[in-house]
Amino acid sequence: VIKVQDAVKDRSAESWRVGHGYDIHRLEAGRKLILAGVEIPCARGLAGHSDADAAYHAVIDAMLGAAGLEDIGTQFPDTDPHYRGIDSGVLVEKTLVKVQAAGYELVNVDVTVIAEKPNLREYKPQMRINLAERLGLPADAVSVKAKTNEELGEIGRGEAIACLATVLLKKGERA
Ligand SMILES: [Zn+2]
Repeated sequence: VIKVQDAVKDRSAESWRVGHGYDIHRLEAGRKLILAGVEIPCARGLAGHSDADAAYHAVIDAMLGAAGLEDIGTQFPDTDPHYRGIDSGVLVEKTLVKVQAAGYELVNVDVTVIAEKPNLREYKPQMRINLAERLGLPADAVSVKAKTNEELGEIGRGEAIACLATVLLKKGERA
C-alpha cells in the first residue's frame, strides 16, 4: 500500500514544475498573422513590437513561470530595439537556454489558440512541428489546439487573438 505522503514526496516541487502562460494581441490591417512560426493567410495580422506571435509568447511565459524566472516582458523588453520585428521562435530558443541553465528540462507543452477567424485547422500540424523543433521535443510532447470564442467579446468580434500555454518541467539529470 502506497501512503499518500510517500506519493507526494515522489512528486516533490523540487522535481516537477508546472507553468502557464497567456498572451493576447490585437488584429490590425497591414500586419502578417504568425502563430507558432506559421504565416497564416489573413487580411489582418497581430500587432506588436516583435512579430507578435502570441502562441510562442504564451509558451515563453509558461516556461519562464515554471522555472521561476522573470516574465517575457522583463526578459525581452519591447522597449529594446533589438527585439523589433524579431522572429519570436528565436525568443523561444533563448528561453529554453535560460530554463536549462536553471536546471530544468522540458517534458511537454500544451497550447490553446483562441481565434474567431481564420480557421486554424489546417495550420495546427505545422505549428506543432515548429514548436517541437524550437523546443527540441518529440511532436507527441507538443499539443496545439484551436477554438473560437463563440463570437463573444473582442476575440469573438475578430479584434484580437489570444493564446494559452501550459508546460511541465522536470529537474535535469545534472541538477
Ligand atoms: Zn505577445
